[in-house]
Amino acid sequence: MSCNPELVSAFLDNELDTVIVGAVTEHLLSCDECVQTMTKLAAVKAVMSDKFMVHDPEGLTLSVMNVVTNDRTAPPSNGMMSFLKKLGI
Ligand SMILES: [Zn+2]
Repeated sequence: MSCNPELVSAFLDNELDTVIVGAVTEHLLSCDECVQTMTKLAAVKAVMSDKFMVHDPEGLTLSVMNVVTNDRTAPPSNGMMSFLKKLGI
């Protein structure tokens, strides 16, 4: 499979089917970019789950992705940026 931040996000939330979890886990083992994404998402989700009730999981994922994309202190690699742009984020 190819890089997919949404799958990484769903993976963190335990929202994936068992079959897909295997594929995502396998991808994470071989992809530094997605591990980086997952690390950032985990940090953001930890903060947000402390402060907000989740009424809109899809909107939350988008907000999280925006935070990750706008993270100026630790900019993602060019490869990650162009991948996110391809997704229209
Ligand atoms: Zn990847």
